[in-house]
Amino acid sequence: MAGNRLLYIGAITAIAFETLFTFASPLVIRETIDSIIGDKLFSDWSILQSLSQLIGAPTITQQTIWACALILVILSLFRGIFTYLNGRWSAKASESIARNMRDELYLHLQSVPVKFYSEWKIGDLIQRCTSDVETVRKFLSIQVVQVGKSLLMLAIIIPILVSLNAKMALVSMVTIPLILTFAVLFFLKIKSVFQIADESEGFMSAVLQENLTGIRVVRAFARQDFEMDKFDERNTAYRDNVYRLIKILGTYWGLSDLLIYSQTGLVLVVGTYWTIDGQLTLGTLVAFVSYVEFLLWPIRQTGRTLTDLGKAFVSLDRIRKILNESLEDMSGWSDETTKISGNIEFKNTGFRYDEKTPVLEDISFNINSGDTVVIVGPTGSGKSTLANLLPRLWDYTNGSVLIDGRELNTIGRKYIRQQIGIVLQEPFLYSKSLIDNIRLGKITNPGESEIFEASRIAAIHEEIETFEKGYETLVGERGVTLSGGQKQRIAIARAIIQDPPILIFDDSLSALDTETETRIREALISRKGKRTTIVIAHRLTTAVNADMVIVLENGQVSQSGKHEQLIRMDGLYKRLWTMQTLPVQVINDNQQSRSQN
Ligand code: ADP
Ligand code: MG
Repeated sequence: MAGNRLLYIGAITAIAFETLFTFASPLVIRETIDSIIGDKLFSDWSILQSLSQLIGAPTITQQTIWACALILVILSLFRGIFTYLNGRWSAKASESIARNMRDELYLHLQSVPVKFYSEWKIGDLIQRCTSDVETVRKFLSIQVVQVGKSLLMLAIIIPILVSLNAKMALVSMVTIPLILTFAVLFFLKIKSVFQIADESEGFMSAVLQENLTGIRVVRAFARQDFEMDKFDERNTAYRDNVYRLIKILGTYWGLSDLLIYSQTGLVLVVGTYWTIDGQLTLGTLVAFVSYVEFLLWPIRQTGRTLTDLGKAFVSLDRIRKILNESLEDMSGWSDETTKISGNIEFKNTGFRYDEKTPVLEDISFNINSGDTVVIVGPTGSGKSTLANLLPRLWDYTNGSVLIDGRELNTIGRKYIRQQIGIVLQEPFLYSKSLIDNIRLGKITNPGESEIFEASRIAAIHEEIETFEKGYETLVGERGVTLSGGQKQRIAIARAIIQDPPILIFDDSLSALDTETETRIREALISRKGKRTTIVIAHRLTTAVNADMVIVLENGQVSQSGKHEQLIRMDGLYKRLWTMQTLPVQVINDNQQSRSQN
């Protein structure tokens, strides 16, 4: 930060020198004209005198006019050097501020609660982290220095003009208050228009992002036309808003340029009149015509700065909205050196995502450490929600959950997440090698044998070995496309290698055939060490050997107990069991009769 401030100071100093050299040129021209065409001596200015002496032309006459040209070239050379330094330093400062801003945003996005992501659109977030940061960066790289330059220019030019001719100086400045008022009024209006344009760009990005993420679904359901229409709508809205912005900007620039050029015209007309009158020398007139440009430049620039400021404010505000989101509370009890034993107790637990509808209600059950529990229930009954309460992705809103007798909501999130391995319903794999994807589960770097062991349990080891590059096979865009079942098993291996006291499989065996599923289940059971395992399943064969089965319906536990008990009780479990076992027999019978034919 201090470094950036130093860079800005450097940039503004450079611009001061640049301005100084810019301003010297019209003076040289004035002296030249008045000493050659007129009869003035070159020059009243001692610096110019010594400079022309230095390059070997102590007096400026028609013969030594080249010296003036040389002086002008030297001046612009110096001006160039300082322009370069200013550009370089302000770019460096603004780039590093933008970098810090992106880092801060990224860190923040890593640390907000999961809830945040059901409220925000990913495309919009990306927009804020890139395009909005860029707007702010542009403002910082150009305008901060420009404001410095404008102020400096005014501070230098006004005394010069007044010293050249006070009356003429006044004429040069009459329209300035008008132009400035106009710029401020415009600034007040343009901000909201910028906001609308920026937001509609965010909406467009969000549609694009959603479409690309779900491109397979879009294709499979032949939804391209619908998606195209949706995108076109956003795209058109964006264009219209930007167009409106450009129209307003165009009108503004047109009008403000009109004012500015009429100011130049005024100087020329009044100045010529006074020159003929003998009140001004020709050289002074030429100098004034040049200087009035320099005078009007900062004024014109003020308009530009104000517009850019409007834009930057809008972007900064959008960035701040993210940064203002409160972070996930990571405080709470933890004991990094010991593992929990895995006792889980739900007591009248309730949960709701929003104020209105409860998703889980009055849930009570007890899981002893080391037990395997299977949760079944229709889609939307709250199984995933229940599973997500344990690693504190969401916090229950009623009742209590005890882990080893300790209230879950008082346990630190980081700690409890290390104690729970969860294989999500839709596993996510990074665009990395398979081995890296599995390794991720463990904080300490696991050895190859450990990784192989985990994939053996997940029944994926042999399949990986058949890949050409084995464990080094890349996943994702530049690598292989894995089937749903393969992804699930990689995710299972990842959870297994974490070796947590509590393992949760959220529908993670659903894409596997019965045989593979059984293999994984048996391998898990035969593993040494006790761990509490919660399996959310659709196939009830999974539940046959479980220590306990919980049936969830409409966010409530409708049945619980062992498989043998449940199939004898009337209820959802019995119905599902009959449904799932009957057709198999019918199919088997069919197959048998077909093979006999
Ligand atoms: P299951 O896993 O049994 O299919 P879920 O736990 O995913 O069911 O969902 C239970 C209910 O909670 C559903 O009505 C679903 O719409 C709702 N729900 C799930 N996730 C969220 C969320 N992030 N925000 C709001 N509601 C949600
Ligand atoms: Mg689910």
